[in-house]
Amino acid sequence: MKRRWQCVRCGKLLGVWGGERLSIRFARGHQYIVGFPAEATCRHCGTLNELPGEGRATPPRCAGSQ
Ligand SMILES: [Zn+2]
Repeated sequence: MKRRWQCVRCGKLLGVWGGERLSIRFARGHQYIVGFPAEATCRHCGTLNELPGEGRATPPRCAGSQ
């Protein structure tokens, strides 16, 4: 099952991901396959987008004593 990774600001499609792999496509047929977490700058509006990956959207935080 594929999921679309879209820019949080303008909604531009940044890539498609499913499972452990993220496929980022650029112009002219360039394509990158990366793991998580991933970051990409939107080529439309320049916003930095972060994708923690499936099941990691809400990483557990260690409750510090300080
Ligand atoms: Zn954008």
